[in-house]
Amino acid sequence: MTDSGSGGKTVAWGELLAETTALLADAGVGSAAQEARWIVETASGMEGSELLLGFDTPATVRGVAHLDALVARRRAGEPVQYVLGSWGFRTLDLFCDRRALIPRPETEQVVEVVLAELDRLLLSRHGDHRPVAADLGTGTGAIALSIAVERPGTDVWAVDRSSEALAVARANLTGLGMAGTRVRLVEGSWFEPLPTELRGGIDLLVTNPPYVAAHEDLPAEVREWEPVDALVPGPTGLEAYQALLSEAADWLAPGGVFVAEIGSTQAEAVSALAVAAGLLDVQVHQDHAGHDRTVVARRAD
Ligand code: GLN
Repeated sequence: MTDSGSGGKTVAWGELLAETTALLADAGVGSAAQEARWIVETASGMEGSELLLGFDTPATVRGVAHLDALVARRRAGEPVQYVLGSWGFRTLDLFCDRRALIPRPETEQVVEVVLAELDRLLLSRHGDHRPVAADLGTGTGAIALSIAVERPGTDVWAVDRSSEALAVARANLTGLGMAGTRVRLVEGSWFEPLPTELRGGIDLLVTNPPYVAAHEDLPAEVREWEPVDALVPGPTGLEAYQALLSEAADWLAPGGVFVAEIGSTQAEAVSALAVAAGLLDVQVHQDHAGHDRTVVARRAD
């Protein structure tokens, strides 16, 4: 990119934005103008209207170097969320990198279902019981931290067996302030790291586990950049649900709720697993694209 250091010439951010757009379009990035804006915002430290007003502001050498590095990564095919290093999820601005799955809009809707179920549970439970929620396979912490922020009366356990993913979740938890004091991060496979006192006491279990079958095609940006362990549980794509549901009824409180994100073709199979695990009132919810996305089931009262 233009060398702002040579001959005392400086390049303005507006010009760099135009160049970045062209470079991304040239590399085949679909929404080059939008992504260029995000990348320039990150490199310049100016956001939204601040950047618009700052178009004539000369970039520093350091700013241009930062921009060049980000553009090179995006041109090499790295997902824009990892390049930016943060991504919006509901009310949160989550730090993200290759150690955990990128937070997705479908999962924002899974949280919507979770919050409705928590509200229903609160209405049906008497006294000052603090609901206990557990997010199994938390990744960036998107679901667990959203619960903590949006329903501050809840105690939240966030579990991941990947210490690398947990480091990402921990970084996000640190930015949460007060709401973060209700969240505990624990390392291990599904229920394994939870304290035994919680057995039979979890009001709401939620999971966005790996659910892609080994033979399924994934877009190159997903396959080559996101952690495969967070995507593919085994040959059928159902292995994580099998493992989780074999223990879910033991860990749920009476009347407690199980909520899982699913692949759009898995509603029947996951519902059947929930019934086989002794859970009741199975419901399937669709995402905004009209695809089956969330399975909800309940332990008997
Ligand atoms: N929705 C993701 C994808 O197919 C998969 C997420 C998951 O396995 N939990 O890109």
